[in-house]
Amino acid sequence: MSADADSRRRREWPGSGLDVAALRAAGVAPVPLRQVVLKIAARCDLDCSYCYVYSLQDTGWRDRPRLMAPSTVRAVAARIREHASTHQLPEVSVVFHGGEPLLAGVQTITRACADLRSVVGEATELTFALQTNGVRLDEAMLTAADREHIFISVSMDGPRESHDRFRVHRDGRGSFDRVDAALRLLASDRYRHLFGGLLAVIDIDADPVGTYRALLEYQPPTVDFLLPFANWTHPPRQPHAAESATPYGDWLAALFEHWYASPQPRTPVRILEETLQLMLGGIGGTEVIGLAPATSVVVETDGSIEQTGGLRAAYDGASATDHTVFGSSFDDLLETPELAARQGGEAVLAAECRSCEWLSVCGGGHYAHRYSAGAGFLRQSVYCSDLKALFARMAVLISGDLRATTS
Ligand code: SF4
Repeated sequence: MSADADSRRRREWPGSGLDVAALRAAGVAPVPLRQVVLKIAARCDLDCSYCYVYSLQDTGWRDRPRLMAPSTVRAVAARIREHASTHQLPEVSVVFHGGEPLLAGVQTITRACADLRSVVGEATELTFALQTNGVRLDEAMLTAADREHIFISVSMDGPRESHDRFRVHRDGRGSFDRVDAALRLLASDRYRHLFGGLLAVIDIDADPVGTYRALLEYQPPTVDFLLPFANWTHPPRQPHAAESATPYGDWLAALFEHWYASPQPRTPVRILEETLQLMLGGIGGTEVIGLAPATSVVVETDGSIEQTGGLRAAYDGASATDHTVFGSSFDDLLETPELAARQGGEAVLAAECRSCEWLSVCGGGHYAHRYSAGAGFLRQSVYCSDLKALFARMAVLISGDLRATTS
């Protein structure tokens, strides 16, 4: 990270302007971390055009080791053990991530599982997951995942034309065929129990229902749709035929209408389920929507502790902290402005969000989508109008159903 990027992080909110001590004095307590995203590999074998690591603002990966060394894995494990012991956590989730984590190879991943389990010890259960682009997902990896109890989630954007528009090899070839083959293997009787779910980035030019149906062909246990990483300084891509001021909200609303009308049991779509739950007065469990505190942290291949990776779409170095697993505990991180800003709920939102009728459902949207050069992360989501359109459409459908069931 350049000195420029570092100084920008310190002079913009929350690096400057968020008083953590005042937040604590006002009763906003830190929340223990429950998920560690382990960047076991810092390179990727695809060249997806929307990737927040390699294709947007961030360049930090260039200086990092390609793979996480076993000594770094053990240092992470020691920090997990320390944090779990301090906060009496019965379970911590470890997600193998990258770049592309399968570039680390089966042996490195297997060894990492063994090292993590042995250093963390039996007082805390570790659950393992792996998020892959699917290109290298084969029998050898799935056999190892079965042995180590690793749940596998795969990035797949929908039918071939959507997937291959963005998720391409370096020479521009689409990756659909290889990912499709890997998904068929993962969905087979032998490995189905390891299937964590599918993750798709919304293609605003694709039909939402067609996209969803294409993903259902793999019979995933869950599907999640991500809004593309964008912010006020780097706004979202607009559809080719821009007829609406809220294309992303309309896209998700059309998906919701189809999904909500589907016969039960319907495949969970995380962003829709979470929003529905929040609208009905429940508590959200993700950083994407709602006021729930962030409880996830990222460790890079060199042991740097970082915030959620999507912040890198804001500017080079936006996800950095001053900490590494070699010198800091995860509790040290909890007291930084960067993490306090992602855990403080309503108290750390922009004025527009605090006075918004959708506050308890939306919570300002994804933190990464709030960035604006100068204001930092103290703004409403760049998808604010889209989210409002989605919520309004959902509210109409839900209230109709509630009236029908109570009359
Ligand atoms: S991002 Fe927009 S919809 Fe969400 S809470 Fe803020 S003002 Fe409301």
